[in-house]
Amino acid sequence: MEMEAKIIIVEDGEGARVTLCGILEDAGYKVIGLERGVDALEIIKKTSFNVVITDIRLPDIDGMEILELAKEIDPEVAVITMTGYASVETAIEAVNQGAYAYFVKPVNPEEIKTAIANALKQQRLSLENKRLVDSLQRTNKLLYEANDELAKATQAKSAFLASMSHELRTQLNVVMGFSELLRDEVPGKINEEQEQFLNDILGSSQHLLNLINEVLDLSKIESGTTPLNLTKFALNEFVTLLTRSLLPILVPRQHNLDIEIEEGLPLVHADKAKVSEVFLNLLSNATKFTPDGGKLKIEVVRDNDWCQVSVIDSGIGISKENQERIFEPFCRLDDALTRETSGTGLGLALVKQIIGGYGGRIWVNSEYGKGSRFTFTLPLAVHG
Ligand code: ADP
Repeated sequence: MEMEAKIIIVEDGEGARVTLCGILEDAGYKVIGLERGVDALEIIKKTSFNVVITDIRLPDIDGMEILELAKEIDPEVAVITMTGYASVETAIEAVNQGAYAYFVKPVNPEEIKTAIANALKQQRLSLENKRLVDSLQRTNKLLYEANDELAKATQAKSAFLASMSHELRTQLNVVMGFSELLRDEVPGKINEEQEQFLNDILGSSQHLLNLINEVLDLSKIESGTTPLNLTKFALNEFVTLLTRSLLPILVPRQHNLDIEIEEGLPLVHADKAKVSEVFLNLLSNATKFTPDGGKLKIEVVRDNDWCQVSVIDSGIGISKENQERIFEPFCRLDDALTRETSGTGLGLALVKQIIGGYGGRIWVNSEYGKGSRFTFTLPLAVHG
């Protein structure tokens, strides 16, 4: 690489020029030596050089002109100026204008060789740098385009899901409506077996309707089309009302629900409907996955500007390796009780999306066979 480096020397003193040319040729460089500045300007316009070595005071032109032209043609070129004692200031000025170095004549051959070697090394590094930046820019551009495609695909997916869900729901309601009419014997009497079949149709339809609704909710949250409706409210009353509405589920299972809210807890600042959804999902899981007669608990403690809400059960529990998985869409664990219960496997994915939407967190502590504690955070209305 270094062997191919091209150097031009512009020096009117013949002795100095010939000596320097000889030294640099011996060092393996391709060297052109010129006496006149104007010839140098001509040749620099046509040929590219790695290093330009020029006397500052040439009889025909100023060495600064050579510096300017060389830099204009190739900003990476290393220009080394040579000068007598009388014009050191001009040489310093040349360095300020972009010259790589200056030497006071007579030039020490070893020093100038070292300067050239360093300049060439710097050029190689800067070239490599440029190559890396170029490749980074290209990759960035590809990434940007891929992101754009992804955003368009997500939007198309959401639009598709929204319109499909609407169509499916409409038709499903018709199926369910007529099944109910038949089961309620509006058109005429049915036998026991027919009633059983109709109940199966209604059960499956209800499951399908839940699935469609949850897929739609999830895709709406993912595409950011559901705005948050933030209000300030007391968690105490909210939880009391909510659990009252759950009594029809809790009582037949003989589940005992305990509520423990830290005293003096400030109001929370959140979207009531979304918080309801989170609670109902977690509480309905807690009842589903806890055998009859088990214990459930809601526990709320303050954590700085947030509160930590836990929904605790004494149910079947979740093994360590499954604790992360359960937040993924369509995950239903393969155990006897889960198989017995109805569900879509979308509840926790939805809950996680809702909580992530306001910057909160949700996690689970559980021991297989002993019970689970799902904890999520809610912001408190402590500012303003
Ligand atoms: P679904 O309840 O509709 O099946 P979820 O997303 O709410 O879907 O839950 C995913 C899975 O996580 C459940 O199917 C169940 O296997 C497991 N799971 C959730 N909550 C509990 C819990 N409280 N105790 C034990 N397992 C649970």
